[in-house]
Amino acid sequence: MDVTELIDGLNPQQREAVAAPLTHQLVLAGAGSGKTRVLVHRIAWLMQTEGMSPGSILAVTFTNKAAKEMRHRIEQLMGISPRHLWIGTFHGLAHRLLRTHWREANLPENFQVMDSDDQLRLIKRTIRSLNIDENAFQPRQAQWYINQQKDEGIRPQHIQPMHDQWASTMLSIYDAYEEACRRGGMVDFAEILFRAHELWLNQPQVLAQYQNRFRYILVDEFQDTNSIQYAWLRVLAGDRIPLMAVGDDDQSIYGWRGAKIENIHQFTSDFPNAQTVKLEQNYRSTANILNAANAVIDNNPSRLGKKLWTEDEGGELISLYAAFNEQDEARFIADSVEDWVRKGRRYNEVAILYRSNAQSRAIEEAFIRAALPYRIYGGQRFYERLEIKNAMAYLRLLQNRHDDASLERVINVPARAIGEKTVEQLRQYARENGTSLWQSVEQSVQHKLLAGRALTALSHFMELLEEMQLSTADVALHELVDHVIQHSGLIEHHKKEKGEKAQARLENLDELVSAARTFKPEDTEESDVVHTSELAAFLDQASLDAGDSQADEFEDSVQMMTLHSAKGLEFPFVFLGGVEEGLFPHKMSAEDPSRLEEERRLCYVGITRAMEKLILTYAESRRLHGQEHFSSPSRFIREIPNEYIQEVRLKAKVSKPLSNAYSMASAKAATGLQLGQRVYHQKFGEGVVMDLEGQGAQARVQVNFDFEGTKWLVASFAKLETLDQ
Ligand code: ATP
Ligand code: MG
Repeated sequence: MDVTELIDGLNPQQREAVAAPLTHQLVLAGAGSGKTRVLVHRIAWLMQTEGMSPGSILAVTFTNKAAKEMRHRIEQLMGISPRHLWIGTFHGLAHRLLRTHWREANLPENFQVMDSDDQLRLIKRTIRSLNIDENAFQPRQAQWYINQQKDEGIRPQHIQPMHDQWASTMLSIYDAYEEACRRGGMVDFAEILFRAHELWLNQPQVLAQYQNRFRYILVDEFQDTNSIQYAWLRVLAGDRIPLMAVGDDDQSIYGWRGAKIENIHQFTSDFPNAQTVKLEQNYRSTANILNAANAVIDNNPSRLGKKLWTEDEGGELISLYAAFNEQDEARFIADSVEDWVRKGRRYNEVAILYRSNAQSRAIEEAFIRAALPYRIYGGQRFYERLEIKNAMAYLRLLQNRHDDASLERVINVPARAIGEKTVEQLRQYARENGTSLWQSVEQSVQHKLLAGRALTALSHFMELLEEMQLSTADVALHELVDHVIQHSGLIEHHKKEKGEKAQARLENLDELVSAARTFKPEDTEESDVVHTSELAAFLDQASLDAGDSQADEFEDSVQMMTLHSAKGLEFPFVFLGGVEEGLFPHKMSAEDPSRLEEERRLCYVGITRAMEKLILTYAESRRLHGQEHFSSPSRFIREIPNEYIQEVRLKAKVSKPLSNAYSMASAKAATGLQLGQRVYHQKFGEGVVMDLEGQGAQARVQVNFDFEGTKWLVASFAKLETLDQ
């Protein structure tokens, strides 16, 4: 593709940004105005016209999904695969740096990434080890405090000791937590960014290496960068690498996680000769949708202020549905999706967005009953399931014996007569001697520090790990994982639990072996990223991916996700569910003006995801966290002028009470199976359906297999094929 073709599909302002000289640039523009498009074209331009090599360009986006999408778009634009481009999230890129420069970053080579669950558990243990009252100083609060300090680039030693008891206790927890991380070679998410920033500051030769390497930096969704991310960029760019920041102040929705909208204002003073480009034409949505979005966001007093227009002149009115309760809402959504598909459209053109994750359950059930394919983006995650966490803990221990969190998790799972008392003694030894738990196991055994029975059990545990290590030294990753699962005793352990739950867990463990089999370390074409082993890469990926989708991206299905994760995406048909006071805006935010503004920006993000069709729904009564709530329509609905909205009125259908027959019927609908149906299972062969129960994703089916006997299977996992009778 030549240069004119490259800028052909752009309007004059976009073209100006794409073909600008190599100075700093701030592209500030509303939703759907082509910011991401500009960024992608700019990358192609730099390579084609400025002759930059892919390896000299760094692009940062907000999610792994967005990074993938960007790579794909560049590929389409240029017809080649830009393999050496550095595209990723802040976390992904910083992690890559730390893996390469672990020594300079003062980390052990096999350092491990903790997800926020692991982090919370470590904090809990830290609080206990300090003998602090967990009720007065809650682990979650401490987690929030610690991450907030890290996001601001503050280490414990930077904080002045305080008289205030709360602050001084938090500080001591932070301090002890840091020590525990250091001992175990553990790194949490916030730490990844923090270390990468310190790497620039403390290791000028490393910084110089990257400053020489990169000739251009681009950042999408700039309004949601936090202090440490911005600082990292600023140091890297220095006064030599031009930086293009692309963002929209009206879409800043991560303030609660430390994102700083002010970075946008800061940008032009930090980079005084930066050129600012504004894009004002929206290409995404119909006029009705865009006007509604503009009207809502207009209620926010503190905005940089910009107007978006479109060439489109109308489009369908936005529909508003007042549901009787959340089930009615869900059914209405499912019906509307069916209508859409009946008209020849596709499932994957539809997105259902909601404020809080808990809202998905009712909608999921309606979808399963109606046999509609759907996918939850960022929902129920494989790696968060209990049995998977257990297996991963064994794998982590193989990788790093000093990973205390993992050791505690599985030292007595399955039960091997290592009681809580023994574990407490190990903890105490570790505390007093500044060792890891593993070292305290070793030394207890070596010096016979504990009672005889405990010692025997501990030495068996040590032998088990040694055995695993030895017999997996040279085998392929999936064989290693399989071996560990088999020999850890986890299979027997989970088999002991009753019925279908155990079955689902075993299937998940199987699935982990499959995951290992298909695992390909991401992006390893850069020779400077070395993992000590394939296992290390696998463990890292599992932690990093935890926040991203693991669903099959190619199946045609409706997408459900929170408003937060819908950022940057677009869909022909969008639902905003639960648009009620108390839920959206969330009741925690309604009273605080700045948080209310953030909720409103979230609503703006939601509305502007829609291209052709938008439906808002609210429920007059809703069961949330086990309680019935009655609420009125959200103020955001009132902020949309009537001329853009039409109300949909259906006769409310009262949902039937649950009964056994009902459960069987819904299991039938969910699984699409009948009693007596002959089915085929990949592993167990052919059999006959004996029983059905449960609903939604939990729907289960009992099959009498010709050769394997009777088994309960979770229908959504079992992938049964129906056979002719
Ligand atoms: P968001 O703020 O939601 O991230 P954005 O500003 O990044 O949005 P894009 O996703 O880049 O917007 O573009 C929105 C849609 O408009 C895309 O489908 C894109 O292909 C289309 N688009 C952008 N610019 C043009 C153009 N000049 N001509 C035709 N289509 C365009
Ligand atoms: Mg975008």
